Amino acid sequence: MKDCIFCKIANKELPGNIVYEDEEVIAFRDINPVAPIHILIIPKKHIGKLTHIAKEDEAVIGRIYSIINNIAETEGINERGFRVIVNCGEEGGQVVEHLHFHLIGGRPLGAKICN
Ligand code: 5GP
Ligand code: ZN
Repeated sequence: MKDCIFCKIANKELPGNIVYEDEEVIAFRDINPVAPIHILIIPKKHIGKLTHIAKEDEAVIGRIYSIINNIAETEGINERGFRVIVNCGEEGGQVVEHLHFHLIGGRPLGAKICN
């Protein structure tokens, strides 16, 4: 997808602090972290947002959760706990229009999921 920054990170046109990569998925550190660990996990395929997930994407979306588990373990937060967030659309606070999963942790995040 032209002009999509996450597509550009996925195909190495833009640099990213990559922590995981396979054929279909890439994970990289958020440029503006809200916690000591803030990693974005994305399908390499351009899916604009959660509501654009198609039947054919179900396998990779499911696998992303296993990848998140593995990254959480590597980062040493799997036992302590962490939060996974997907913002969708304007009122959901989505800024970058390429589906991404925020993995956030490394400090207590509190019970509230929004303010
Ligand atoms: P959203 O608000 O769309 O759910 O989250 C977008 C996230 O992407 C934000 O946390 C923001 O800091 C991050 N971000 C935006 N541009 C870049 C970039 O060029 N590189 C990286 N690594 N993260 C980015
Ligand atoms: Zn994209």
